Amino acid sequence: KKFPFVNIILGTHNTYKFKEYLEQVLATKKRVYQVVPEEPCLPVEVESYRTSGYNAWVNIMYGCNNFCTYCIVPYVRGRERSRKVENIVEEVKELVASGKYKTITLLGQNVNSYGKDFDDGKTNFVYLLDELCKIEGDFKIKFMTSHPKDFSYELIDFIASHNKMSRALHLPVQSGSNEVLKRMNRSYTVEHYKKLVDEIYKKIPDATLTTDIIVGFPGETDDDFEKTIDLIKYCNYSGVFGFVYSKRRGTPAEKFDDQIDAKIKQKRITKLFEVQRDMLKKSLPQMIGKTYEVIVDELLKDDFALTKTDNGKSIRIKGKYSVGESLFVKATEIKNNELFGIVTTKEGE
Ligand code: SF4
Repeated sequence: KKFPFVNIILGTHNTYKFKEYLEQVLATKKRVYQVVPEEPCLPVEVESYRTSGYNAWVNIMYGCNNFCTYCIVPYVRGRERSRKVENIVEEVKELVASGKYKTITLLGQNVNSYGKDFDDGKTNFVYLLDELCKIEGDFKIKFMTSHPKDFSYELIDFIASHNKMSRALHLPVQSGSNEVLKRMNRSYTVEHYKKLVDEIYKKIPDATLTTDIIVGFPGETDDDFEKTIDLIKYCNYSGVFGFVYSKRRGTPAEKFDDQIDAKIKQKRITKLFEVQRDMLKKSLPQMIGKTYEVIVDELLKDDFALTKTDNGKSIRIKGKYSVGESLFVKATEIKNNELFGIVTTKEGE
């Protein structure tokens, strides 16, 4: 009633029906209001990718079985449902064949448990990646989001031995305190997470890690928070995405009675951002002299171009290039907090 110009309202289960709803509105001039699923669960074989520039994102599964106590996803998106391998492969083949996309990111709430619902003794996330890596073409595969309890050593070995796999890995830890992780129902310990990180750096020396942290989860003490800071330092992340905990209606954590005072949360997130800033400052000089496979991201004035490394770091180069072009660039200097580099060969010569 308040927004008469809105013609269609739809829920997350029904987004794949948008085209149908639009045609309906155009034909009948009547508004569509469809927020509840039209079918018991989302049909998983609808075309499901979106694109921007040279990036394409492909959904490989929907829903989540994990029930972290702060998260509403399992309640609103239902249980995990994987799409068929052949349909995902077909979609990625089309994207690569178009010649427009250099980065294909596979999406799911917990991609590491892909295929578990098939129960065929064969299909899992590594199996899917193996099929995708067989596709001919110049592209990289990324994926998100990973859950540390399901991120397997088999997956680490697979990434280490396949050039098409991006080395930029996002592994959300949320907290560095076992007590908090337990209350979050994350189903892993700090020790388990550290072992995973060690194995990643051992098998994939050029891996870069990023993570998500929730600050001020109910019951988090100063000591718990300091443990998170320690873990951040241990993992040598290239990026940390910090969030202040806020109540989500309908989740168990909403009812926890030891909610943290807003001022304390603010103090902790400020400290987290300071640590992150320090880490970023240190990470740029570490890149000098190293060669990176990059993609030209943006053309700038005066014949400069901005390139992006696999893990999203920017390096400015001089010369005429096209957006989406793959190059090898050696980082040579930092000016005004920005990395500059020169185009080189794979070996950096
Ligand atoms: Fe699932 Fe991620 Fe939500 Fe946990 S945080 S319930 S893994 S979607």
